[in-house]
Amino acid sequence: MSSRIVPNKKIHSIGTSAQRKTMKGLVYDGPGKIAYKEVSKPEIEKPTDAIVKIVKTTICGTDLGILHGKTPSVKPGTTLGHEGIGVIEEVGTGVSHFKKGDRVIISCITACGTCEYCKKQMYGHCKDGGWILGNLINGTQAEYVRIPHADNSLYAAPEGVDDEALVMLSDILPTGHEIGVINGCVKPGDTIAIVGAGPIGMSALLTAQFYSPAKIYMIDLDENRLKLAKKWGATDTINSGTEDAAKKIMAETEDGVDVAIEAVGAPATFDICQQIIRPGGHIANIGVHGKSVDLKIQDLWIQNITITMGLVNTNTTPMLLKTVTAGKIQPEKLITHHFKLSEVIQAYEVFGNAAKEKALKIILTN
Ligand SMILES: [Zn+2]
Ligand SMILES: [Zn+2]
Repeated sequence: MSSRIVPNKKIHSIGTSAQRKTMKGLVYDGPGKIAYKEVSKPEIEKPTDAIVKIVKTTICGTDLGILHGKTPSVKPGTTLGHEGIGVIEEVGTGVSHFKKGDRVIISCITACGTCEYCKKQMYGHCKDGGWILGNLINGTQAEYVRIPHADNSLYAAPEGVDDEALVMLSDILPTGHEIGVINGCVKPGDTIAIVGAGPIGMSALLTAQFYSPAKIYMIDLDENRLKLAKKWGATDTINSGTEDAAKKIMAETEDGVDVAIEAVGAPATFDICQQIIRPGGHIANIGVHGKSVDLKIQDLWIQNITITMGLVNTNTTPMLLKTVTAGKIQPEKLITHHFKLSEVIQAYEVFGNAAKEKALKIILTN
């Protein structure tokens, strides 16, 4: 419904954006239902809050999961989105690192900086934060967003770096790096396999190369994604729709791979990882699983395997920001589509048909 048709709302949509009391946002209305509509503009609620005017945001696989009703913590009426960059519109009296007009990267993880988990750099489990944006509180697929604990949850955007590259630092690069590469202990000379060539698998591919693995297998069902993976550093690609990926890797390697990174979140892809891991190897699960997997502990127990899993902490974001600023990696190459924020519904349709549309990351510009 256009605000121009509703007389009592017309008052709010006149004037500069700063004077308006409402804004447009992408609202989750229950499983299968989203709408881009007029919602309340966020306001400072606590002294440590900042209000950020969104410049660019994106859609995450997690958002599709929410739309499909996989994430019951997200209540109808919530504005979605947990990634983006923007400009500070207003800060609370307790915010000391940022001021109005600063260009910032929004972290998908909110961190108070003082709780027990934050002290251990496990920001994903912050007792007054963690993944709350577009989950427990309103998110970034809107004209404005409220960021709690702004000092610890925003990063100053460096001058001269592409805005769209910086959006990749909100979630996918730290997730691929921390939960895939770091947890998997990728080392120089390793043979590694990444199962799933979506944005997260690709982020693991880009960041794994910091540690110089000798061989990188990329496994997916989508030929287009495999082609891109090869261009971006995979030494070998396997289409698991046409070939038995586990069999091929076991035939080509001595005992399997040193590190298997799961970047899908399905029983079949986890199973590939446990079939190809060599003694002493690491299985690093990044995928969001909706159901249990069949853990072959009867085969794995004797093999000295480490299995890790988890939510991103974003504790490596400052390091990743330096590598992006220095041009060591170019995460903007993961961006395949551009839309205006007002076209967000269409963008969800394209992202929901990623294989057909050849979509990886989609940028929404406010
Ligand atoms: Zn995300
Ligand atoms: Zn905390």
